[in-house]
Amino acid sequence: MKPEDFLKFDKLVVNKIKELLTSRYKIAVQDSKQDVLEAVSKFDAADLNELAFALRRIEKGIYGQCVICRHDIPTEVLEVNLTARLCPSCQMAMHEKSDSSR
Ligand SMILES: [Zn+2]
Repeated sequence: MKPEDFLKFDKLVVNKIKELLTSRYKIAVQDSKQDVLEAVSKFDAADLNELAFALRRIEKGIYGQCVICRHDIPTEVLEVNLTARLCPSCQMAMHEKSDSSR
């Protein structure tokens, strides 16, 4: 992922968290990542935790990397699902596996 993409997704994820916090808990947070992460830690919401996880991955420079095969996840996929952890082919493999176990 390009450095400008990291910046872009950093903003997108922070905005998404702020949006959820405002609409769900009626609280406003500052733009700083520290404030946003702190606010998230006060609530035990799975989707917020996922977004916070994405934010930490952005900071580590591993955001957008598939957690299984480490290939880049296409930015189109991330734009639709900011918390995507798997590339499309691993996603597909996981899906097939869980389908056959049923
Ligand atoms: Zn993968």
